[in-house]
Amino acid sequence: MPELPELEVVRDVLNTRVVGKKITRVELLQPTAAIVVRDVTGRGFVETLTAAKIENVARRGKFLLFDFDHAAKLVINPKLTGRLQLATTQDKRYKKTAFVFTFADETELRYFDDKAMGQVYLTDDIKRVPDFAEMGPEPFDISREQFRERLKPFRGEIKGVLTRGEFLAGIGNAYADEILWRAQVHPYRKRTQLTAEEIERLYDAIQTTLRESIELVRAAMGENIHLKPRDFFQVHMRAGKACPRCGSTISEITAQQRITNFCRTCQAGGLIRGM
Ligand SMILES: [Zn+2]
Repeated sequence: MPELPELEVVRDVLNTRVVGKKITRVELLQPTAAIVVRDVTGRGFVETLTAAKIENVARRGKFLLFDFDHAAKLVINPKLTGRLQLATTQDKRYKKTAFVFTFADETELRYFDDKAMGQVYLTDDIKRVPDFAEMGPEPFDISREQFRERLKPFRGEIKGVLTRGEFLAGIGNAYADEILWRAQVHPYRKRTQLTAEEIERLYDAIQTTLRESIELVRAAMGENIHLKPRDFFQVHMRAGKACPRCGSTISEITAQQRITNFCRTCQAGGLIRGM
């Protein structure tokens, strides 16, 4: 989190609320800024962005890209804990705020990051941002045929494949669980063990889950883009609750510090590895 659905909504809100505005003041706040903010231009974060006008906000995978009326771009990869917030100059700031842009109308765009895991780059060359150039296609841009072809070189556990940015951009731990539940595919099945029919179901589940989730996130978030709505998840973070499809108890396995939730009844067939 945030993954494609959250960032898609954040992008839309920012296009309505901050695109076209000129930044009148830039603040870097320590200690978080020193950990997450990197000025690769060498021209200074505050110096470059003060008086800059935000011309566009785009999303690519799990990155947000800000265009200004000059060459430098701001690239935000919030990872698990970074969040943007719309506020006014009067609103209290979160303790782990890393930077604040203030606009002439006394509104602010802030970035805060409780665990300072995110990465914020000011750069002239987005291709040099770590993990950016090697990203695979956007899930909504890939046809069924292209999806089948792209899957072939990946042989490992299907959840691991789905969350690899080089395969498809924008899907992380939470939505991979949701997609696999919808497709009724066990997260630890190897890609090489999946039937043609399961691969079809997976493609459909990616499209449907992500599209539906964007609308659910939009409804829950509104313009409170710092929120992390997750009440609508069917299995992710719902260990011990009833599967919405079959009523069995939702399982949880933690491996490599990542939680996986799934239903052993409707997502049968996986060889369960060590807990
Ligand atoms: Zn079930």
